[in-house]
Amino acid sequence: MHFFFTSSVSAPAAEADSGQSADVDWHQALAQAVRDPDALIDLLELPESFREPARRAAGLFPLLVPRSFLARIRRGDPHDPLLAQVLPLGLEETSVFGFGTDPVGDAAARQAPGLLHKYHGRALLITTGACAIHCRYCFRRHYPYGDEPKRLADWDRAFETIAADATLHEVILSGGDPLMLTDARLQALCDRIGAIPHVTRLRLHTRLPIVLPERVTPRLLEILHAAGPTPIVVVHANHAQELSGSCADALRRMVRGGLTVLNQAVLLRGVNDTLEAQASLCERLVDLGVIPYYLHQLDRVAGAAHFEVSEVTGRKLIAQLRRRLPGYAVPRYVRETAGGEYKEILE
Ligand code: SF4
Repeated sequence: MHFFFTSSVSAPAAEADSGQSADVDWHQALAQAVRDPDALIDLLELPESFREPARRAAGLFPLLVPRSFLARIRRGDPHDPLLAQVLPLGLEETSVFGFGTDPVGDAAARQAPGLLHKYHGRALLITTGACAIHCRYCFRRHYPYGDEPKRLADWDRAFETIAADATLHEVILSGGDPLMLTDARLQALCDRIGAIPHVTRLRLHTRLPIVLPERVTPRLLEILHAAGPTPIVVVHANHAQELSGSCADALRRMVRGGLTVLNQAVLLRGVNDTLEAQASLCERLVDLGVIPYYLHQLDRVAGAAHFEVSEVTGRKLIAQLRRRLPGYAVPRYVRETAGGEYKEILE
């Protein structure tokens, strides 16, 4: 367990995340998520001054926090690094030059409904607009998900486009979060991808194993292994405090079940912008068998400017990590630029 207690705050909000929740149906766990800013503030015993701004900012991008993630947040600590990722703040209402609604050029990369093509050899599917948590810094917080496919038949153009381009060897299931799809829908998408001979790798970008670990079921592992193309799962954790209890168990189940599991984190002010936070995140990941793959410079999305850390600080952190950790435990520090042919490696 990697909880970071301070003397002035109490234990995490619920009895420690026990590791038993893999048996709880994930739909049920999702239905019990906290969606009301007042409830979040009351449950976490936060100062009254947070209430009004949280209500307003949740009107811009709704609040959503699953109970198992909530259980990893310390009560009464406004500086908790997990709370900072989910608590709506008045700062989100500030318009900042250079921060926009499509920071990584998704609109220009859209080739068909639900299909983005940015980099050579890879195509990305916006499988759903739904997530199990709403990260306040999300680069797709303004994405027009309403325009993307809903029914299976709506995907025909996307699959025809992939099938017609033999240079595409990897399909990335993204969103939103692809593990928000039901098993039946996920299976149907995997089957269609598996039927395209030149697609040899199937990548999933998902935060569910971290925030709603109940989703990592034996059936899910079966679907991924049976897909045909080699599955690669890229999870998203930003702080070691996220990687406890049932989340750690879910990651172990995936790794020991034979999946390649990588992590991508975002460099976030007040969350993981110190050497201690980065080092403990990377060490905890490798202890669980997960490779710390990327540390992303924040995508400059409107509403998230207060999370930005300078690239000078980011480079310094990576240099310090190199002195402290084995090479495989140090992530690549990258930035995505709209229209870029690849992610730029900053350090
Ligand atoms: S899980 Fe990913 S897509 Fe969903 S809100 Fe968080 S960062 Fe955005």
